Amino acid sequence: MSEKKLLVTRSSMPPFEEYAEMIKPLWESRWLTNMGEYHRMFEKEIGDYLESRVSLTVNGHMALELAIQSMNFPAGSEVITTPFTFISTTHAIVRNGLTPVFCDIGEDFTIDVSKIENLITERTAAIVPVHVYGNICNVEEIERIAFKYGLKVIYDAAHAFGERYHGRSIAQYGDMSIFSFHATKVFHSIEGGAVCCRTNEQYETLYNLKNFGIRSEELTVGVGANAKMNEFQAAMGLCNLKYITQEIGKRKLAVERYQELLAGTDGLWLNRRREDVESNYAYFPILFEDAEQRDVIYQKLREHEIYARKYFYPLTADAACFKNKYRNANLKRARYVTDRILTLPLYADITEEEQNRVVSVIKEGMAQGRMRL
Ligand SMILES: *Cc1c(COP(=O)(O)O)cnc(C)c1O
Repeated sequence: MSEKKLLVTRSSMPPFEEYAEMIKPLWESRWLTNMGEYHRMFEKEIGDYLESRVSLTVNGHMALELAIQSMNFPAGSEVITTPFTFISTTHAIVRNGLTPVFCDIGEDFTIDVSKIENLITERTAAIVPVHVYGNICNVEEIERIAFKYGLKVIYDAAHAFGERYHGRSIAQYGDMSIFSFHATKVFHSIEGGAVCCRTNEQYETLYNLKNFGIRSEELTVGVGANAKMNEFQAAMGLCNLKYITQEIGKRKLAVERYQELLAGTDGLWLNRRREDVESNYAYFPILFEDAEQRDVIYQKLREHEIYARKYFYPLTADAACFKNKYRNANLKRARYVTDRILTLPLYADITEEEQNRVVSVIKEGMAQGRMRL
């Protein structure tokens, strides 16, 4: 079979000339990083777009790792989080010397807020929830719990770029929210990330952490890492930001098309989007009733050069490096979902024909499955 390869995502590119124009002055200035002009411009523009104070970082993982570090939790503190996420979320907690406490997820795949309070101990310092697939967590309940127990909240909002909830930018929730601008995300700067913070003090702490703690030639005020976004990244971000509304609009059409094509398929559930969220249409996960069928269809799609992905399988709690290391709550629904989920190819310029190809392989596979039963 000589079908074109379909990957789960495909990076959006700005017109080549626009990026080329943008980076040309760098050959003159030779200022390639260290909070250059584009870094500062992008920080301002992305802040306006997200309606938040922003500190740019080299990638989303470092944004989360440094956001957590900036809170200065006592070593060994516990952080309540979801196991149904990209491994980065859990790594960022563990690399800070903190202990992840995994909480089960709810029907919308985000952390089950009714199970958080049971997991709180005197060592609990924070909650790190994830707006997985761009599904917004129950932010009101998380805020209530955090306030009641004096916990910090840091949202991993890597999937939620550009989303609004009740008319408010999702970047404004929690003590901090972080975004990833990785090439595979709805919005990208090749690699890149951002911490959205609330106060000048937070901003300055993050600045120190991403720049070796260096404040001037002879003054180093803290032990920092190097996590600065460079000028080529910032230029790409500035170019792509011009097209973000258009990009999300195209994704919306593609998502609606998948929904139409797949609606009512026996044995399949589609991700529900909330009316009160302005979505970014980041992912198209489907949930199989039958776990074995998920694996069969995943394989069939691959045979047709369609690389759907099991986002997220396995749970981060079950990763080889974490398995049996941490106190695990009952992760019943997370385990159910991780065995049955499949994320379909989705990007702004996916064609109708490509979507038809994906859907027909799924539907054929499902029909064969039923005949077997
Ligand atoms: C992509 C992603 C990250 C990490 O971002 P990078 O920019 O790839 O470092 C963290 N958390 C989640 C949920 C992600 O999807």
